[in-house]
Amino acid sequence: MQDFDGAENIQNLQFFGEFGGVNPSISDSSTYTFLSAKTMADTFDGNTDGCYLYSRHSSPSNLYLAAALAQMEGTENANVTASGMGAITSTLLQLCKSGNHIVASRTIYGGTYAFMKNFMPGLQIETDFVNITDLKAVEAAIQPQTKVLFCETVSNPLLEVADLRALSALAKKHGLKLVVDNTFSPLSIAPQMLGTDITIHSLTKFINGSSDAVAGVVCASSDFINELKDVNSGACMLLGPTLDSLRAASILKNMRTLPIRMKKHSENALYLAEQFEKEGLTVKYPGLKSHPQHELFRSMMMGNYGFGGLLALDVKTVEKANELMELMQDENLGYLAVSLGFYKTLFSASGTSTSSEIPADEQVEMGLSPGLIRMSVGLDHDIEQTYQKMRNCLVRVGIL
Ligand code: PLP
Repeated sequence: MQDFDGAENIQNLQFFGEFGGVNPSISDSSTYTFLSAKTMADTFDGNTDGCYLYSRHSSPSNLYLAAALAQMEGTENANVTASGMGAITSTLLQLCKSGNHIVASRTIYGGTYAFMKNFMPGLQIETDFVNITDLKAVEAAIQPQTKVLFCETVSNPLLEVADLRALSALAKKHGLKLVVDNTFSPLSIAPQMLGTDITIHSLTKFINGSSDAVAGVVCASSDFINELKDVNSGACMLLGPTLDSLRAASILKNMRTLPIRMKKHSENALYLAEQFEKEGLTVKYPGLKSHPQHELFRSMMMGNYGFGGLLALDVKTVEKANELMELMQDENLGYLAVSLGFYKTLFSASGTSTSSEIPADEQVEMGLSPGLIRMSVGLDHDIEQTYQKMRNCLVRVGIL
């Protein structure tokens, strides 16, 4: 267990509004005046300290949210983006140029996989996908032109856990940047504390927690964040994945309850995973002792936020998965929907939804069964009652 606690850092932040409000004022401007023409020219020359030039670069509301996220991850700085994909694609395009190479985990979010597999080769940037839990395979895939090692702390949807200490040692040995998508494990794990160079989140999920916004963040050194925002060569500045200030303000407010939400998501997911396992069902959850990386997760954990809100239940066939999910939705146990981190449980069959970009043969090779249901367990007040209702559904569709 690590002793860093991102929640404490967020709690210690003090942002006042323009008139002493307890929430910072929302910036409602796309552009900003300068008191002198010289300051404007200096700002475009890169001396942006204390000045706002244009909201695609920075806005006060976006900087407040970025500061809170940097505190949460223990990084020097952060930049918020219009989506998690906006954070991932900007980071990779900043780090990799034509002729470079990426080594990535083969179990990652389908959109990230599709970007590396289908889009990046058009820019002569190739990716090798590896089993991230096999460190020998990871090292063997590194080439002289490799620039980035990419993984998710807890992978989507198989919930494999990456050994971030060992991967960061590998990255340092070979002069690579370790880029980690930490969307599934906010607060529980702070990748920077384990040697990661760049930590990314889709804020759309747990951090915002209300399924009403799409956003992302890159948490890293000030040098890298300034590179991303550089007016001449920065991927965030030039590709324009800019988060709207109103949304940044609402996400910052929602983020304050993240510590209590994460505890509850984890507590509920652990309870369901334990019950499913007792029934003899195939369930993956990092909090179960049977999970191959249970001890590894424990050794990387920070604070007391548990093993996360995601579990994967394998009911073998997509037909059974669909039947079960439709029934659970009818019984108001959650929604048949992609995404995660909502107060209601969300479930989807990953092979035919969020991982459908991964070809069928590769899904089989990585162990992604067509009947795998990914559940983002909600904040149910009475999880024992929820389980009894879920159990009834499992009986009615003939799984139990
Ligand atoms: N990373 C992970 C692990 C995800 O699950 C997702 C979306 O599902 C993303 C990144 C992309 O985030 P966004 O939808 O905010 O672009």
